[in-house]
Amino acid sequence: MRTRKTRLWEGAGIPIAALWLAAALFLAVFAQAAYASALAVRVLDVGQGDSILVRFPEGGAMLVDAGTADAGPRVVESLRSLGVEKIDILAATHPHSDHIGGMLAVLDAFPVGKIWDSGYVHGTRTQQLFLEAVRDRKIRFGRPKAGFSEEFEGVLIEVLAPVKAISGTESDANNNSLVLRLSFGEVSFLLAADMETAQRRSVERFPETTVLKVAHHGSHNGTDVRFLEMLRPKVAIISCGAENPYGHPHREAVALLEGAGVDLFTTIGGDIVVETDGTAFSVHKAITPEQPPSEAVPAYIGNRSSRVYHAASCDGLPAERNRVFFKSAEEAAKAGYRPCGRCIQ
Ligand SMILES: [Zn+2]
Ligand SMILES: [Zn+2]
Repeated sequence: MRTRKTRLWEGAGIPIAALWLAAALFLAVFAQAAYASALAVRVLDVGQGDSILVRFPEGGAMLVDAGTADAGPRVVESLRSLGVEKIDILAATHPHSDHIGGMLAVLDAFPVGKIWDSGYVHGTRTQQLFLEAVRDRKIRFGRPKAGFSEEFEGVLIEVLAPVKAISGTESDANNNSLVLRLSFGEVSFLLAADMETAQRRSVERFPETTVLKVAHHGSHNGTDVRFLEMLRPKVAIISCGAENPYGHPHREAVALLEGAGVDLFTTIGGDIVVETDGTAFSVHKAITPEQPPSEAVPAYIGNRSSRVYHAASCDGLPAERNRVFFKSAEEAAKAGYRPCGRCIQ
């Protein structure tokens, strides 16, 4: 897990691997020390999707969703860097691929105590693979409904929805989401999954809640005035990707949240971490390190007709239609190209 600080060191020419190891160890120790007496809810930056890690006061872990299949390895890496060795409760809020796509990577990487599932059958390949993986591993599998609650390491976990099966909506998968509320002392969290209007209306009352994981990535159908008046949240967190194709978060939802006076955070560019001892709480963003320069920028460009390759910075590059791209000089040589005498010594 890198922070802004460790990124600044990169330019200083200090052996980076050693620093990172030190930083990782420091953060792991620090995290454990902080979790020894606190509850931490971390909404991970998984791009477009949801994945929320809950660390309980005695070190237990719950993971609510696992992002897309592409994000799965990043979720695993994050959990490992935070010292997670076992997931006590793995919750699948609903079977959309941006919530359970990463489950296979997670199930491969960690032992899981039990699974809570929405119980909604979507019939997709993604869900089928998830259910098969659970069955193969013989993990306890439950479908808790509204009214169910469990105390775990001093934290009360309540299921607020599903209240009943909902059908005939624009997205029945979203409207049958598993909606969880956590409370620890005076501080509480609502993890609203992708709940839309129909499911929101099926819940008679939402208790006042300190921190809201906003429903459905900040979609217009995930938030309304009445809902916010019941919750009176102080902090709201939207999990979504930068420039996602859905336009999340929607302007209407952001306006409602801002109108309700919340401190609004998004996972774009970093995990949002809320820590509490049951009385006070703090929120911070753990900046996601920038990815190394994209492979889309090729190192070498070959000329299909002359079979000569050039450095991408050469001022004698071949015409667009004759270009072939190579990641290394070796790759170019293997393909039978010879180096340009001007740009490659
Ligand atoms: Zn979603
Ligand atoms: Zn969804």
